[in-house]
Amino acid sequence: MKTLLKNGMVYTPCGFEQKNLLVEDGKVFLSFDLEADSAVNKLEASVDKIVACDNKYIVPGFVDVHVHLREPGFFYKETIKTGTMAGARGGYTTICSMPNVNPAPATLEALKVQLDIIERDAVIKVIPYGTITSRGDGRSRLADMEELSPYVLAFSDDGKGIQSKELMEAAMIEAKRLGKVIVAHCEDESLLHNGYIHDGEYARSHGHRGISSDSEWVQVMRDVQLAEALGCRYHVCHVSTAESVEIIRAAKGRGVGVTCETAPHYLVLSDADLREEGRFKMNPPLRGAADRAALIAGIQDGTIDMLATDHAPHGEEEKSRGLEKSPFGIVGLECAFPVLYTNLVKRHIITLDKLLDLLIGAPIRRFNLAGPRNSRIEEGMTADLAILDLDTEFTIDSKTFLSKGKSTPFDGARVQGHSVLTMVDGKIVYTEGADYANN
Ligand SMILES: [Zn+2]
Repeated sequence: MKTLLKNGMVYTPCGFEQKNLLVEDGKVFLSFDLEADSAVNKLEASVDKIVACDNKYIVPGFVDVHVHLREPGFFYKETIKTGTMAGARGGYTTICSMPNVNPAPATLEALKVQLDIIERDAVIKVIPYGTITSRGDGRSRLADMEELSPYVLAFSDDGKGIQSKELMEAAMIEAKRLGKVIVAHCEDESLLHNGYIHDGEYARSHGHRGISSDSEWVQVMRDVQLAEALGCRYHVCHVSTAESVEIIRAAKGRGVGVTCETAPHYLVLSDADLREEGRFKMNPPLRGAADRAALIAGIQDGTIDMLATDHAPHGEEEKSRGLEKSPFGIVGLECAFPVLYTNLVKRHIITLDKLLDLLIGAPIRRFNLAGPRNSRIEEGMTADLAILDLDTEFTIDSKTFLSKGKSTPFDGARVQGHSVLTMVDGKIVYTEGADYANN
């Protein structure tokens, strides 16, 4: 299969350059001055497909290290098929699946259930996490990390914080021995007090129970100190508080091997944007305006390394129960790039170059994904690509999502920047306008 991506702005090591790309046998070949070349007609005649990329930007596919695909176990919320279709539509070519599924991947036998479905159904690349604990509950004994290690991105009990220092210490010692990263959802359950939105102005004025910021940063602080003492590579999930940003900034200053991510909603929204709807409920919650400002400063100065969606789909009825009764979690894969491009790049908070690093280069570097994956487009690289339209304005309509989950606070937002075509290993896995309704 030969595909010619004609006349796009290609994201090369030198920045964006107008070029033609030939994709053949799953690899990229850059081609120069095709218009001027007398061989142009011959080449065009020899390819199977030509994609006109005028005024489009061709980038390596995005990498999301924090996605809940819900399968095996919760297929009514999402499946590996629908979740990876959603990723393809969002411009993602590699996503990493969190282990709060059933069976939880705490053993190789359990992980194989998921790996088989990935093999069968995934339309983009999926790298699973293994759990830290045997039940993925932040409390039970350690999982069989050694047998899982060759098959997983890293270890996480995402959804649950590791409740005791001793358990986290044991996990870090084992992860270090295996050369893996510990990826932590930081949440001290003794500080939750049955809260479900941020313990701030909105919670107080609307009579809701709040989740305090210290439930997050107390564990970040504990873990950073452990990682520093043990020399373990440590990554914090979905950082949401100003205090967490400051702890991580200081730790990086001391040379601790810590990285972190935040998600689009924490950068764009705060508790002032809350409404009495389940689509505004996620964990950690939308924090205060000062937290949001600290997170933006964190991405600007490099304290926050990467952006992940924390795509966490639920059934429609589940999310219809309002702020108190709905489960935590919103979908993100199909609107992350437009939301980020519109709110951060168009408003000159960060450059497009920086946004692309947060979505592509940083996760590749941190999780050693280089080799099959590139952060810039180079000759010979695996053709995992997204073709972006940065200009067309549109309204986010969750009813059109390919994910089974439709719950997002960005429903109805006017945005621009979206993938019109996504390619994995040279194969087109998503084209704007194609009908995927029966998938
Ligand atoms: Zn989490």
